Amino acid sequence: MGSAIILKSPAELVIMREANQIVAATLKMLEERIAPGQTTLQLDQWAEEFASGHGAEMAFKGYRGFPGSLCVSLNDQVVHGIPSKKVVVKEGDIVSIDFGVKYKGYYGDSAVTVAVGRIPARVQELLQVTRESLYKGIEQVRVGNRINDVSKAVQQHVEAHGFSVVRQFVGHGIGTSLHEPPEIPNYSRREQTPRLLPGMVLAIEPMVNMGTYDVKVLADGWTVVTRDRAPSAHYEHSVAVTDDGPMILSESV
Ligand code: MG
Ligand code: MG
Repeated sequence: MGSAIILKSPAELVIMREANQIVAATLKMLEERIAPGQTTLQLDQWAEEFASGHGAEMAFKGYRGFPGSLCVSLNDQVVHGIPSKKVVVKEGDIVSIDFGVKYKGYYGDSAVTVAVGRIPARVQELLQVTRESLYKGIEQVRVGNRINDVSKAVQQHVEAHGFSVVRQFVGHGIGTSLHEPPEIPNYSRREQTPRLLPGMVLAIEPMVNMGTYDVKVLADGWTVVTRDRAPSAHYEHSVAVTDDGPMILSESV
């Protein structure tokens, strides 16, 4: 990543909204269909079929060699799970689905964690608090605030509920590249972070663990799991900074 944060014009934001709406509709379709007995490869194929049908290119497939169109991360997997015909979704799982597309030259990126059937109350709370923390972060997307205001809001909400935020992976700017400056950690930093300006687009993505925030990457080179193998949740929206406040481009309408 370079250091300059690229500002988008209102016309570019219109296209970025279209890209992100394809992502939102894809995630909604998957949420409705996901059920015990499906393989994670099936979810990947549905995502690709649906988004391609809407004129989008896959953002993740081939990105640094990632083999899938969808990241599917189960239970103690944090992010970057590889879709596989050997991995079957079962009752009681939590499934993080992270999806990205390129549309008319611009990227969309969003993620949700879905419960499959009944899950323990504390795991349900993990999902709810992670989703809430994303919105606490989004509330801070105001001209004049700094990136660290977003980070701090996410971290405070998560830790107030006894969960932890992953340090090793962070959110990012997004535009004509999937990952642009600035980095958006989910924890507060001491150093000065950039001020928010109209036209910035931020992919804010809390990754929240039930236990330790420490993670490791599996031997496949992609799948990130919690070090203590406790569950983890992930929610993400692509959000534009405007003079009227945050514009959530990937919110399903
Ligand atoms: Mg994502
Ligand atoms: Mg992202």
